[in-house]
Amino acid sequence: VASRAGSPGGPRGGIDLGGTKIQAVVVTAAHRVVGEARQPTPTHGGPEEVTAALAEAISAAARAAGTDTRQLAGIGVGSPGGVDGAAGTVSNARNLPGWDGTFPLAERLAKRTGAPVRLANDVQATILAEVRLGAGRGRDSLLGVSWGTGVGGSLVLEGRLWRGRGMAGEIGHMVVVRDGALCTCGRHGCVEAYAGRAAMELAARRRADRGEKTALFRLMKEQRRPRLTSGVWARALGEGDDMARELMDAAVAALAAGIASAINLLDLGTVIIAGGLGVRMGQECADRIAGEMRSHLFLPQRAPEVLVAELGDLGGAIGASLLVETPDGIVRRRTPAAARG
Ligand SMILES: [Zn+2]
Repeated sequence: VASRAGSPGGPRGGIDLGGTKIQAVVVTAAHRVVGEARQPTPTHGGPEEVTAALAEAISAAARAAGTDTRQLAGIGVGSPGGVDGAAGTVSNARNLPGWDGTFPLAERLAKRTGAPVRLANDVQATILAEVRLGAGRGRDSLLGVSWGTGVGGSLVLEGRLWRGRGMAGEIGHMVVVRDGALCTCGRHGCVEAYAGRAAMELAARRRADRGEKTALFRLMKEQRRPRLTSGVWARALGEGDDMARELMDAAVAALAAGIASAINLLDLGTVIIAGGLGVRMGQECADRIAGEMRSHLFLPQRAPEVLVAELGDLGGAIGASLLVETPDGIVRRRTPAAARG
């Protein structure tokens, strides 16, 4: 929904709207970050308050880049919840305050900033950046998996972001154990019920409450964290903590089963692991997931490559900025030069 003209050819804005923080960037036509700003996501109010915070963040990033939002070619936003890119709306973003219905985010943010606004799901934005500029360069079809608090996913098929009817790519809710563990979505046996950071923490608490020994919660206190962050998991694994290892093994097994099932369906050659846990656990863990996938693959001798996202903290915002020039998420088709990279 391009309700404002913006400045075609000008720098682009990108915003990663997360449950705890808003990350904004301003990038050049060559995707170089020339301004950035970050602020906490409002915990009270509703979509209008969140929209005001988005406008503040992108305005600060534009100021840092020596410009203002009216000079931007447009602003892309990667948002949680149900995103309708064509309608410019976000529905039921449950980890944002008071966001239960459908809100016309593109139109409202365009009004506040004077630049046209494009939307995608936050995981789609992150993976779009990896395909264009990161670990997926040169590939035109792949599966992206965001392994963090929950487990999200995004599909790029023949150079195009595959949105389905808006919710495509929810690999976290592929069923890997029928009637298995209770998932945060209310169903049973999903990948996320074993591999989501939130689910892993719940399982660890239940076992600790039963008197099982673990270093996880001691490390959490030492690092002054309110929850078992990816850093806490990494430390506990480094100390050889048995419970951390068992829960991580279960997470890897669930991810491997879910991703392999998706590969059996789609026959993709590349999987990119992103997200807080995915990036923290790194390529060694991605290799373990690849190894465990083999027993589930219909053609293990044609296993896909499993790579870790490269773009780090700004990846989601940079990916969102790409929506301005490619609103349908169209990735440049493979060229001989890109195929070599
Ligand atoms: Zn689920």
